[in-house]
Amino acid sequence: MRYVLKCLACGKQYSMFFPRQLCDKCDGILEITAAGATAAATLEKDFWSYEQFLPEGEYRHYMLGNTTMLASSRSNLFLKLETENPTKSFKDRGSVVEIAKALEYGYDEVVCASTGNMAYSVAYYAKLGGIHATIFVSRNANWLKIRNIQDTHDANIIKVDGDFTEAQRRAIGYSKRKEAFLTGDYGYRKEGQKTLLFETIAELPDVRNIFIPVGNATLLSASYKALLELKKAGLIRRFPRLVAVQASLTAPLVTAFKRNARVEYQEPLTDAGAIAVGYPTYGDQAIEGLRATGGTALSVSDKEMEDERMAFYREYGLRAEMSGVASLAAFRKTNLEGKTVAVISGGNTLKP
Ligand SMILES: [Zn+2]
Repeated sequence: MRYVLKCLACGKQYSMFFPRQLCDKCDGILEITAAGATAAATLEKDFWSYEQFLPEGEYRHYMLGNTTMLASSRSNLFLKLETENPTKSFKDRGSVVEIAKALEYGYDEVVCASTGNMAYSVAYYAKLGGIHATIFVSRNANWLKIRNIQDTHDANIIKVDGDFTEAQRRAIGYSKRKEAFLTGDYGYRKEGQKTLLFETIAELPDVRNIFIPVGNATLLSASYKALLELKKAGLIRRFPRLVAVQASLTAPLVTAFKRNARVEYQEPLTDAGAIAVGYPTYGDQAIEGLRATGGTALSVSDKEMEDERMAFYREYGLRAEMSGVASLAAFRKTNLEGKTVAVISGGNTLKP
């Protein structure tokens, strides 16, 4: 789709040829907004069939997405196995869009902040595209994942003595100093992550609840954006409930939702590294999605996630990380009616 970029903070607009992810005037995040109508189509369960919903770009059609929707042993519960993506998490859906744009704008380096999964994913697609990746990793990053990147990719890893929010700040500074394309939880990634929702609706058009783990809240706000676009294209009539799941030790979005307030920073204390984010970038937008779909926000303890990880392995023979099964652990504590999808967001043999 053709699009414009619009600053979420000050409202300044840019054309699709503006080669950056942050506003020149105020450093706000640029949101991608379709220019003109998106052609209506039927929904298929295939990542590249949604290209018309992605920002126009020169994509290389790698195999990704199209992950299994597994019927669980509990009636009406389905598991979306995002661990099947090439780098074992849902992050690939966004990375493939970001790297395509970086190449199109002529960059030879990308930079991002990560707790592990995004680092692996960005490094992988940068390598496929033949450009460099510099990754700022937070203090609570999973070092097994980071070692994996150092062993198999050419990424430049910079350790930050701080949390994810600090790593993000450093990555932004680096992108300006070195003219590297900033990747991470910004507009283009969000666009790619819409495809998870498209696939879910394609396979289960009558789904009523979708449980999504929340760190930076990009996947959740992307899912809400996808629902709005599907409705506009006449492909759905009513919204499934979006349910945000956080770790009880790091739950800024759950707190804000319950207090009906704006999201505020919380020190990330959970061991579930992939969702240990103190200030979710898209937190306020995600809350808008929860309210608009009649959804809710839930938290699960580290022990509940760890127990769920073991139960998941025993039942399905599959490995997931703690955050990967957070949605499943949260589902156990609810009694929502109708077909439910729990997003198994990431992890393979690595823990936590
Ligand atoms: Zn701005």
